[in-house]
Amino acid sequence: KLHNTILELKGNIRVFCRVRPMLPDDAPGALDTVCYTNSGELKGRRIDIQLQNGQNTPFTFDKVFTHDAGQEEVFMEISQLVQSALDGYKVCIFAYGQTGSGKTYTMMGRQEAPGLIPQSLKQVFETSQALAAQGWKFKMQASMLEIYNETIRDLLMIRSNGGDGKKYNISHDANGNTVVSDLTIVDVTSQNEVSNLLKRAAQSRAVGKTDMNAESSRSHFVFTLRIVGVNESTEQVVHGVLNLIDLAGSERLSKSGATGERLKETQAINKSLSALSEVILALGKKDDHVPYRNSKLTYLLQPCLGGDSKTLMFVNISPDPLSVHESLCALKFAARVN
Ligand code: ADP
Ligand code: MG
Repeated sequence: KLHNTILELKGNIRVFCRVRPMLPDDAPGALDTVCYTNSGELKGRRIDIQLQNGQNTPFTFDKVFTHDAGQEEVFMEISQLVQSALDGYKVCIFAYGQTGSGKTYTMMGRQEAPGLIPQSLKQVFETSQALAAQGWKFKMQASMLEIYNETIRDLLMIRSNGGDGKKYNISHDANGNTVVSDLTIVDVTSQNEVSNLLKRAAQSRAVGKTDMNAESSRSHFVFTLRIVGVNESTEQVVHGVLNLIDLAGSERLSKSGATGERLKETQAINKSLSALSEVILALGKKDDHVPYRNSKLTYLLQPCLGGDSKTLMFVNISPDPLSVHESLCALKFAARVN
């Protein structure tokens, strides 16, 4: 067998792989752990993971971004997908990978190198304004939540002391939209407004006692933009949704080390990530039964995962030699869902 998987475009599910650059803290030999195919039809699609013993495991995806791919280059490959949300499609873009592999960089990026979320918003608002000339009027609404230990937290709610006492029950209405009770939904008219909400959300994300990144990497962050477009001359109406999801870190904690709260977290993460892969797997196989209800994440996103919706999974990879095992796990996961 030449490849672990040759991923065809099954239905509306795609998988892109992105390798982050080497960082100062990486062990020596980083970037020797991955190699790419630079010619032939697998150029830009195949990645090989090199183990210490010289053994090499190849994976093929719809697209592989090497460590030197910039934010704009990555966005170019997804801008059509973002566009389709304005055309009335339901879109989900996930970032999957171990902590430190570049999920948040891919999704949010930095001020000087904006990621998929800010670039998508820029495009959505610019395009919606351009479409006004053809009689289109758009109404956009944003919400931001995180799922931590199978519990939803509203990131746009101003919290008073103590628990907010809200239930955040998930249901689906007659139009096939997700409704989360008590969730804050904000009407937005510009990229700037959404940026301010994103800042607010970042502040309310779980802040651990010891290490902020450690905590936020144990929850799924879900950004949702609902788009309703009405054409005043043709009376066409479109309902699109754009979900951008920074998933919890996919790393397995060593069995012995995890106890108490940490163990609970790990179990919740494993449960929801495997529930996500089961759902995507069932959709790919066109199974009659898709197990959406096995996790909060999949139940929340149910209307945006099946039918004629479009799903893209980024699998983020660290080139650190110490991460080779986790990289293999992540790539196998991603290969499975295709
Ligand atoms: P994760 O969200 O998966 O835990 P981060 O996105 O926080 O990982 O990335 C870990 C570190 O690597 C951060 O310092 C981030 O800025 C850096 N990084 C990740 N991907 C890239 C990239 N493509 N280019 C430059 N720096 C990156
Ligand atoms: Mg992160």
